[in-house]
Amino acid sequence: MLSTMQDVPLTVSRILRHGSTVHSGSYVTTWTGVPGQAPAKRTFGEVGARSAQLAQALRDELGVAGDQRVATLMWNNSDHMEAYLAIPAMGAVLHTLNLRLPAEQLVWIINHATDRVVIVNGSLVPLLAPLLPKLASVEHVVVSGPGDRAPLEGSSGGRIRVHDYEDLIAGRPTDFDWPEVDERDAAALCYTSGTTGDPKGVVYSHRSIYLHSLQVNSAEAFGLGSRDTLLPVVPMFHVNAWGTPHAAFMAGASLLMPDRFLQPAPLAEMIESERPTIAGAVPTIFQGLLAELDATKRDVSSLRCVIIGGAACPPALMKGFEERHGLHVVHAWGMTETSPLGCVSHPPAGAGAEEAWSYRVTQGRFPASVEARLAAPGGGFLPWDGASAGELEVRGPWIAGAYYGGAGAEPLRPEDKFTEDGWLRTGDVGTISPDGYLTLTDRAKDVIKSGGEWISSVELENQLMAHPDVAEAAVVAVPDEKWGERPLATVVLREGATAGYEELKGFLAERVARWQLPERWALIPSVPKTSVGKFDKKVIRKQYADGELEVTRVD
Ligand code: AMP
Repeated sequence: MLSTMQDVPLTVSRILRHGSTVHSGSYVTTWTGVPGQAPAKRTFGEVGARSAQLAQALRDELGVAGDQRVATLMWNNSDHMEAYLAIPAMGAVLHTLNLRLPAEQLVWIINHATDRVVIVNGSLVPLLAPLLPKLASVEHVVVSGPGDRAPLEGSSGGRIRVHDYEDLIAGRPTDFDWPEVDERDAAALCYTSGTTGDPKGVVYSHRSIYLHSLQVNSAEAFGLGSRDTLLPVVPMFHVNAWGTPHAAFMAGASLLMPDRFLQPAPLAEMIESERPTIAGAVPTIFQGLLAELDATKRDVSSLRCVIIGGAACPPALMKGFEERHGLHVVHAWGMTETSPLGCVSHPPAGAGAEEAWSYRVTQGRFPASVEARLAAPGGGFLPWDGASAGELEVRGPWIAGAYYGGAGAEPLRPEDKFTEDGWLRTGDVGTISPDGYLTLTDRAKDVIKSGGEWISSVELENQLMAHPDVAEAAVVAVPDEKWGERPLATVVLREGATAGYEELKGFLAERVARWQLPERWALIPSVPKTSVGKFDKKVIRKQYADGELEVTRVD
């Protein structure tokens, strides 16, 4: 029997229409960083009207048609939000570019995606201009916001036309006949950060964005609503800022966009003055914010919740925010291939304070739409018993089933990334409790295999970062003649701190099994980070292999 329900496509244009009418009074506020100057505010109604103007300009002036790719090289700001809405809603594909990638990777990605247009923030023109001669498919560059346009002119020998964002949209109609696209069609494209091999393109559909937005807004996730103001510190070029811009526009939650002011001091200032209710970022950003708040008192009481994800959140960071600043931290897990939610670590109902903590430090609980299983190292699957550790595999309506193969090419399904029955291999290793909470112990490639036993680098790092003298710590596997591999602890001390290796090892000895204690230690000035601000352990492993670290043995 067929259902009698209407088959209405779930598309970005529905989010755009709904947000800009029903929630027309919500705001997208962009921090300008100019002392004494009020941040730039646009209502959702204005953003919707300007999105329509942008779509007209892209179609009528720049000739964007069908599913052509329009890239953005932009910070988190309202013009970027307009691109987020207009490009998918008009049927084209929004391609967000990671502005921290090395130049060759950006060139590779833009050419692989065959981007036709790049919208760039004026402040990022110096980054884009030298690449233009190598960008075969790009015909137009649109510059948004202040910044010198001159380096763009002529750098492509006149092949690429340069436009000003405001001039381009000015005077155009403020409504647009958004086409009815198939909900399964491509809406947005995002490349993984590609730590090994070429970056891989993940193509989100209208349907996946819509369903994911509903999930982000659910109470079991971030619970965004029209009384919220969200501060997405996580960049819009990193998994679409965790899908939060579309989710917020759907819910009518105002957005406070930090633009390029991602340093701890301006973040603290914008929280105090614009009073967001919820914020999200990777641990390294919040580690900086915590230090800033410890040093300079700020009123951050507007925040009902701080979401930390994208890398393991050290419990000491959660407790620091909570105990010293009254901020409630929620840990979440996800990846580019999973849109990114993922799990969110709300404790179960009825858990007492201590028990709640034991849940809150996990990566979180899976929502109904994300199915999870743990692959056993020797084949088969492991029970959800909170103890058996294996590689996490997931599937669901907003989980990638393949990578973008390139224009006209078949999608790619590398065996190490997808199982034969279509599940995504996450490359993350951990356990799942009977009530569905995931605890990650490592990336598969970061696991330390010592004498046949696994040591969790994340556990050692979390314990080390709980020491008051430790600002950051990263633990990697290094070759060992006797045990195969052993942990190397690299530690960044806080300014003025004096703890020595013996003391740090003694501190760890009270918290982890003796055989897991690292005997190799190195003090480093800072932990190397990836383009999205996560610990870059392959750099540490290479530094060790090349003899660049001053390693002390503490046996
Ligand atoms: P990306 O695709 O760049 O967002 O990276 C995704 C990867 O980040 C995941 O596969 C995990 O290894 C890591 N990750 C994300 N969130 C967490 C978390 N809460 N705890 C530990 N690792 C995480």
